[in-house]
Amino acid sequence: MDACPSEAISKNENGIVLVEEKLCTGCKLCLTACPISALQFNIEKSIVEKCTLCPHLVSDKGLEPACVVACPTGALYFGETNNVINRIRERRIKSVFSLRGAVVYGGLVEYHQK
Ligand code: SF4
Ligand code: SF4
Repeated sequence: MDACPSEAISKNENGIVLVEEKLCTGCKLCLTACPISALQFNIEKSIVEKCTLCPHLVSDKGLEPACVVACPTGALYFGETNNVINRIRERRIKSVFSLRGAVVYGGLVEYHQK
């Protein structure tokens, strides 16, 4: 958020960082500032975009994000940090998992199986 000179990046009440398309000038300063490469440059629109964590499902309907539901191997986790970490630990007992690739968004963790 600090890297954006246009104040196009903000954090909502759930701790989710979002990009306001109308404010983004496409300067790409945020791309180098983000340590987990969560932002992508949309060439066609000349703006930066990022995962929204599906607020239309999570906040509005109490469901999990679309990618978490769609993943056929259950490689993605979503929820409160401690709950997600506990679920990963439980699953690691049953199979060999690496914790590399865990991405933390604010108070939330998205885990990608490596
Ligand atoms: S590309 Fe857009 S969101 Fe990123 S720093 Fe520039 S104006 Fe802000
Ligand atoms: S489907 Fe997954 S990656 Fe796409 S916006 Fe929703 S949470 Fe983000």
